[in-house]
Amino acid sequence: MAAPTWVAVPDDSPFGVHNLPYGVFTTADRPHERRIGVAVGEYVLDAGAVAATDGDLAAATAALLSAPSLNPLLAAGRPAWTAVRALLTGWLTDPAHRPAVEPHLLPRAAVTLHLPIEVADYVDFYASEHHATNVGRIFRPDGAALPPNWKHLPIGYHGRSGTVVVSGTPVVRPSGQRRAPGEAVPDFGPTRRLDVEAEIGFVVGGPTAQGTPVPLAGAEDHVFGVCLVNDWSARDIQAWEYVPLGPFLGKSFATSVSPWVVPLDALAAARVAPPARDAALLPYLDDQDGSAPPRGLDIALEMWLRGEVVSRPPFATMYWTYGQMLAHMTVNGASLRAGDLFASGTVSGPERAQRGALIELTWNGEEPLVLADGTERTYLEDGDEVVITATAPGPDGTRIGFGEVAGRVVAAPPQG
Ligand code: CA
Repeated sequence: MAAPTWVAVPDDSPFGVHNLPYGVFTTADRPHERRIGVAVGEYVLDAGAVAATDGDLAAATAALLSAPSLNPLLAAGRPAWTAVRALLTGWLTDPAHRPAVEPHLLPRAAVTLHLPIEVADYVDFYASEHHATNVGRIFRPDGAALPPNWKHLPIGYHGRSGTVVVSGTPVVRPSGQRRAPGEAVPDFGPTRRLDVEAEIGFVVGGPTAQGTPVPLAGAEDHVFGVCLVNDWSARDIQAWEYVPLGPFLGKSFATSVSPWVVPLDALAAARVAPPARDAALLPYLDDQDGSAPPRGLDIALEMWLRGEVVSRPPFATMYWTYGQMLAHMTVNGASLRAGDLFASGTVSGPERAQRGALIELTWNGEEPLVLADGTERTYLEDGDEVVITATAPGPDGTRIGFGEVAGRVVAAPPQG
């Protein structure tokens, strides 16, 4: 049972004291001073400001909360994450702290949110069987939908960390090589098939030394929290370039993330068993021995296009878990750094209305979406806004909110 808070927060708030997601914000009067904030109800707690007033707090702990990004906290590792969450919970639930803490609760609507982490390495997986099957049928109609490796390892690729942007950042339509159907050679120009991918992202901390794999059992020591990801994708550029080395310019122009990072510790009530495994897994990926809490997560996503819900992807259907993704990503000895981000890949469920990308929702444009205002969409047009939101079960019937990741498409600049 979560302790009651003295902050005015409705019981059904997705940002109750059981959640306490971390972000980075500025205020209008101090626009260049990035500060760590914690969302609670309609407020942001200026965590560094409170830390500065708490004479009992170790200087090292105060420093973690006074940084301009979450990276020092990420670097500090699991024991620090647990201690800081307990500290924040105490500030917001013990009435004795109220006089010192309350002046540092700011209206959430009045702050500007920024990228919460300095993204170190970025990896994107392909962990939904429904998504991989749909895309396989579209791109390779005469072959097997899933490649032979799919149920033996979580497929992924290294993305471009420098183009990860915070929710609200406009996305300029990228240009590149496109080969039209039936043509032998490509032309160049703005993508005609700009798409979205609704994903869940995992924020990593607790650096490791190169040469040291992280076993499944170590996942909770290195996954700090969870955010929303929109992996913008230019399908025509992607289709022409991806053989044989995988995604490149069709993906690297922009990846949007939500400003709030929900602590993994807030998601205990959202844990569910992943789907049954169809193939025997090698020991480093085998999660069937019951020695740890299940690492599937019951996160319900919604994808909005031009102000209406077009899909409700269920993360609980994902085949691979965050623990398996992390174990696979490091099994060759690749090291982890504070601020690493890995994303799940598009979240798609078995139903059409649960598909997390337009390529699946419109079957590569063959079945356009008809929106409530009568307009049709195959892929995104300039001016379209996409918003992805999500919630998960919290303790005692509460809900955990993830906020949103939003982005609007801006026309490509004139071609020179
Ligand atoms: Ca993706």
